[in-house]
Amino acid sequence: MIPFNKPCTTGKEGAAVQEAISNQVLKGNGPFGEKCTNWLENRLGCAKAMLTPSCTAALEMTALLTNMGEGDEVILPSYTFVSTANAFALRGAAIRFVDVDPATMNIDPKQVASAITERTKAIVVVHYAGVSCDMDAIMDIANKHHLWVIEDAAQGLMSTYKGKPLGTIGHFGTISFHETKNYTSGEGGALIINDPDAIDRAEILQEKGTNRSQFIKGMVDKYTWRDIGSSYLLSDINAAYLSVQLTYADVINRQRLDVWEQYNESLKPLMAAGKVMLPYVPENCEHNAHMYYVKTKDDTERTALIDYLKENDVMAVTHYVPLHSAHAGRIYGKFIGDDVFTTIESEKLVRLPIYFGIGEEAIEHVVKHLYKFYEA
Ligand SMILES: *Cc1c(COP(=O)(O)O)cnc(C)c1O
Repeated sequence: MIPFNKPCTTGKEGAAVQEAISNQVLKGNGPFGEKCTNWLENRLGCAKAMLTPSCTAALEMTALLTNMGEGDEVILPSYTFVSTANAFALRGAAIRFVDVDPATMNIDPKQVASAITERTKAIVVVHYAGVSCDMDAIMDIANKHHLWVIEDAAQGLMSTYKGKPLGTIGHFGTISFHETKNYTSGEGGALIINDPDAIDRAEILQEKGTNRSQFIKGMVDKYTWRDIGSSYLLSDINAAYLSVQLTYADVINRQRLDVWEQYNESLKPLMAAGKVMLPYVPENCEHNAHMYYVKTKDDTERTALIDYLKENDVMAVTHYVPLHSAHAGRIYGKFIGDDVFTTIESEKLVRLPIYFGIGEEAIEHVVKHLYKFYEA
């Protein structure tokens, strides 16, 4: 069976984890954590990067940093992972879902503009499949209405928009190092801070609402409770694992892009024959091959394709069920405007196996069976 995903390993993570154990620093913000945040800050050119237990936790920090609360509205796509909405619903904010652009499955800026009210406080964009949203349009709207912009770049490390790394365009960015993402620490994430004024408070939020990080730097002689907060730290054991993957990020990225290109070139004739739609990458965007998907005619054809591939040892999978149609989505949110594309397009999408080390033969096997399915 060709799995849909395998967690990325280069073979060198074990030694790094062993070193973390020898260091006898297992807590958060240890030497490996610093190695990772230095890498992120250099690579992304952001004011500050902080490792968190997950992208979910980083999103929760952005809800705290923007003082999100009852009476506030947050605009985001319905086609996303629950955490994008949950982080703000947890603070009592009202979730306002808007439609996506079917070409990229990213939030449609026109729909964002028409969903704004006097209560709107933030726009949360999701860079689906590591392909950037239309950030110029989003930032124009945000600047005009004085809104926060949070980039859920869970899937977007190593991708850019007009040369700018994803996560560094809005006020905050959030990255995931979950085992399903391109670079992993098992569970893990990062908060990207682009406004230097937000750094001090973020450090306090991360340390349970205390100024412990100032204490560690010798800036105060004891640490005390300063603010609300939680434990938003990643253990140095996890950071050790991640540090190796970041060191090899260019190698991993190159290989994923090759796999993506192999799928894309091989499947172009199938698109030309009108059988499937292939992913679209806008001109200004460099992506990171986080995902390779095709779109079938409809949900029925998709189920048949997934079943056929499974019979032939290929695990292909669906993706998000739009949040506005889910139980909690109806309680905490509301779709603004018409759901022209979100539901219909989400029902067509199938993700194909892609992971570090997948190999050309596996891709050929997947492609061959896609063609066989459509010949039948
Ligand atoms: C994976 C993912 C998350 C959640 O990441 P965790 O690190 O598991 O919390 C959030 N948003 C999007 C778009 C994701 O793909």
